[in-house]
Amino acid sequence: MLDNEILIRLGCFVTLLALLIVLQAYWPRCQNPAQTGKKIKRWSANFVMVFTATLLVRIVLPLSATAFALWVTEHDLAAFGVTLWTIPAIILLDLLIYWQHRLSHEVPFLWRLHKMHHSDNWLDVSSALRFHPLEILLSMLLKFIAIWLFGISALAVMWFEVILNSTALFNHSNIRLPADRWLRLFIVTPDMHRVHHSVDVAETNSNYGFNIPWWDRWFGTYIAQPRVGHTQLNIGLDDYPQGETSWQQLLLMPFMKPRRKAALTPAATATTLRKVSADD
Ligand SMILES: [Zn+2]
Repeated sequence: MLDNEILIRLGCFVTLLALLIVLQAYWPRCQNPAQTGKKIKRWSANFVMVFTATLLVRIVLPLSATAFALWVTEHDLAAFGVTLWTIPAIILLDLLIYWQHRLSHEVPFLWRLHKMHHSDNWLDVSSALRFHPLEILLSMLLKFIAIWLFGISALAVMWFEVILNSTALFNHSNIRLPADRWLRLFIVTPDMHRVHHSVDVAETNSNYGFNIPWWDRWFGTYIAQPRVGHTQLNIGLDDYPQGETSWQQLLLMPFMKPRRKAALTPAATATTLRKVSADD
């Protein structure tokens, strides 16, 4: 199975991407006439990001996370000398991604990289491809450390990557789902993740999970629905009202000042707001 890793990952990715593109075209959850005509520019910029990120990781890292896991376990190099079973390993990696995502909102340096993802002023399946290549590289390094620390098997790493890529495509897609209330007990649904892309900072700082929906409930970051409802929800960041759609602007975003206001992390802004209301 590991010999066919690239084929399995690419196969799942392309099939799901195609399926979600069709579903969101025929059963969209939200519609915004202001987005008409912007789709090609947005989509090409978002696709350039996923190609650049893949290329950067290939160039900088000598081996993939799966190959690294294979090397660690075969040479018995795990920090504590144990190999974690597949299911607990996947759960642990998911918890790690929850905290990485949460810290990306709370630590200014990490927010610089992550805000590009949030600057998309519309949400659809292509938004799942829009992460800064440096953020993807950082995330990969974090996975390498986890693999070494906990002796995570190559099989667990491969399945985690397949699951994470698939759920990211799923929960960024603009599709109307029946029984969302029940579905979100098992998986992070598009409605749940849409709250996280709201321009309202309190909502941006919620629903950090990608796979397991329970981390947010347990760690107190769960918001069930946006205040204004899904169809009226403004997506994106106040600082980037245009969504910065050219791929060059997206790549440069961590190193540039926003056109409006000071670049506070949403968490810092939320703290300021909380302070103001406490003073009242
Ligand atoms: Zn985020």
